[in-house]
Amino acid sequence: MEFLKDLSEAIGVSGKEDAVRAIVLNAIANHVENIQIDPMGNVTALKPGVGDGPRLRVMFAAHMDEVGFMVTGIDSDGLIRFTGVGSVDDRILPGLRVRVGDDALPGVILWTPIHLNHEQRVVKLKDLRIDIGGNKDDTNSKVKRGDRIGFDSRFMEIGDRVLRGKSFDDRVGCSLLIDVLRGGPYPVDLIAVFTVQEEIGLRGAQVAAQTLTPDVAFALEGTTAHDLPNPLADLDSDEVINPTCRLGGGPVLTVLDRSVIVPPQLLGFLRATAEQHQIPYQLKTQPGGGTDAGAIHITNGGVPSAVISMPCRYIHSPTALLNRDDYQHTLRLLQAVLASITVSDRNPR
Ligand SMILES: [Zn+2]
Repeated sequence: MEFLKDLSEAIGVSGKEDAVRAIVLNAIANHVENIQIDPMGNVTALKPGVGDGPRLRVMFAAHMDEVGFMVTGIDSDGLIRFTGVGSVDDRILPGLRVRVGDDALPGVILWTPIHLNHEQRVVKLKDLRIDIGGNKDDTNSKVKRGDRIGFDSRFMEIGDRVLRGKSFDDRVGCSLLIDVLRGGPYPVDLIAVFTVQEEIGLRGAQVAAQTLTPDVAFALEGTTAHDLPNPLADLDSDEVINPTCRLGGGPVLTVLDRSVIVPPQLLGFLRATAEQHQIPYQLKTQPGGGTDAGAIHITNGGVPSAVISMPCRYIHSPTALLNRDDYQHTLRLLQAVLASITVSDRNPR
């Protein structure tokens, strides 16, 4: 987990993943072969398996990009107009600290102080502006249309178990993949892909899978833990709104989502592997959301693909939470998968 802080604090809004890519390249350089940056910007690498005979080609994919914003114009008062890159909830925007452009200029999304705000409506993103404290000339000299804007958020530990930071979707997947590559060796050929442009349509993963032709693939993700009591329920109730998965419940295995149906034999293998190693796990059956597995599984005549996620609260915001035990359980599961997967686990039965 030694790279998670740097990965979390780096800004890599879709299409501008450079800062994350640099951390990844540095972390894996001495632990893999054939590192490439493909024309999309994906980082691909091979960790060759040990042992004789034909080896299964297993792809692990984690996306480097994060949701954020882009500059669309500068008003006469020096305030910045912007639009979303990936999905962010308009309701969390007013007052947020952000970083603008390649120089990571500090800014704040404007908001009306409560003294003056007599309205209850949610202000839409298109009506908000970003303030970097300059007049029109100042702002024009520092900011260009098309510049990316990311959340401004420090990584920190909360007590023994909980970590707080931004972009755990999917820097926690990147961190897990780095730790897997720095461990091993494994009996299979591990094809590692740190993908780009997941948040705007799973684009990097599609290209990487077409090029690298894995036999089986796993997307490593940070997913929505919606596990808190319903604020509208009775005070004494512990009713939870449509729980997806829980912090502290272990890795999350997707049954299906909007982008992929995990083949039953592959899901069965994951469940059996977790049980054999006494790793707690949870099933995700919520049909919303998608991952890189959604793009990978329909390349090259079909690639059996699954999703292994870490539960994270408050993803797609500047302040997500994760649990250290979940991280260690997920890492153990990933390594157990590589140690035991065979060709029969990927074939329909
Ligand atoms: Zn993600």
